[in-house]
Amino acid sequence: MDFPTFHAVRIQDIATACFAIESGRIDMVGMMRAHMTDPHIVRKIIERRENDIRSCVGANYCLNYIYQGGMALCIHNAATGRELEMLQTIRPAQAKRRIVIVGAGPAGLEAARVAGERDHEVIVLEAMNDPGGQIRLTAQNVRCKEMMGIVDWRMAQCEKLGVRFSFNTWADTETVLAQNPDVVIVATGSMPHTEVCREGNEHVVSSWDIISGDVKPGAKALIFDDAGDHAALQAAETIAQASGRVEVTTPDRTFSPEVVSMNLVPYMRLLQKLATTFTVTFRLEAVRREGSELLATIGSGLWRREERAALRSDRR
Ligand code: SF4
Repeated sequence: MDFPTFHAVRIQDIATACFAIESGRIDMVGMMRAHMTDPHIVRKIIERRENDIRSCVGANYCLNYIYQGGMALCIHNAATGRELEMLQTIRPAQAKRRIVIVGAGPAGLEAARVAGERDHEVIVLEAMNDPGGQIRLTAQNVRCKEMMGIVDWRMAQCEKLGVRFSFNTWADTETVLAQNPDVVIVATGSMPHTEVCREGNEHVVSSWDIISGDVKPGAKALIFDDAGDHAALQAAETIAQASGRVEVTTPDRTFSPEVVSMNLVPYMRLLQKLATTFTVTFRLEAVRREGSELLATIGSGLWRREERAALRSDRR
């Protein structure tokens, strides 16, 4: 007796699901996260609007929250898991307004999409020449390249909704007011913080500099991580893969507390293989140049020690 075959893991888009069934590999596909990302997926298929489907980008934000006893939230759909406060269907506004949004990172793009759905006139000003902000940096990691779906889907929706974008535009007061806005939304995100020690901050570069490739790392690097999220591990991967020796130090009791469960494993698989070391409860206190090397002092309040690093901070 032939049993039907069923597959239910990581089929994120309709094209892949159709191919798996049409090619005879399986009889049925289970898609759970696809429905969390876009609860209107079936309606969009019936209406032949497959290009409008918001596809899961595999970020595991949802599973990480669940495994910590939290809600099943979605990094790509803010309304998922919050339906009592935030509707999955956006209704047109009663009065049309002219809305200027500063910043085309994920927050600015989502604001633009929602405002466009509400039938407002929307203009987005962005200082860079591309949209995406920190998502674009995250997607530099080959494991995270699907994250660009967060940007690409919003850009495609914004285009359909007639949202106008002005790239390479520094949004000072004059530039914003020249658009004659009714509403201004500032979605400029944050800047890296490199004023971390009592002396020698001029020798410190940010994780963004490393991930973006703006700064070429040397053969030995010390990463000081007082944020505990993905940026430090992603920078560590970048340096370690470029055959550098990396030590990650944190003032916390554990390293990378914000990178939980499923997302930590792929980092550790690579970083342990490349002999990356982790030091907890030590803070970066000072950095000074000694010849071609940097000498970093790290301290815990109880002990202090020095680490040599060969981080070349010359920008490309
Ligand atoms: S959080 Fe990420 S993995 Fe989970 S449903 Fe949303 S896009 Fe998919």
